Amino acid sequence: MFLGYCLITSELRVIADCGFYEFKRQLEYKSQKFGCEVIIADRWFPSSKTCSNCGHIQDMPLKERTYNYGSCGHSMDRDLNAAINLSRLARASKLTEG
Ligand SMILES: [Zn+2]
Repeated sequence: MFLGYCLITSELRVIADCGFYEFKRQLEYKSQKFGCEVIIADRWFPSSKTCSNCGHIQDMPLKERTYNYGSCGHSMDRDLNAAINLSRLARASKLTEG
């Protein structure tokens, strides 16, 4: 999933050009071809708003590029924090699949 997240962030121009539906279709096609699995997070999953250290959720305006949460002392790049949360979501969904 983390690899998929990196792919998504580096291919934003491709997504904008072909639309998300086509991007998703291509991603699923390629993942089958290469034996990978695509796990899609719910659109409201708070990956950027959730502290990857303790699970606290707070508002994160797009202009804020660093996630800071004083109570647990966590400070991390916004995108890296979100990637960790998405990676955990992917692992959790794999565990619940059986
Ligand atoms: Zn925290």
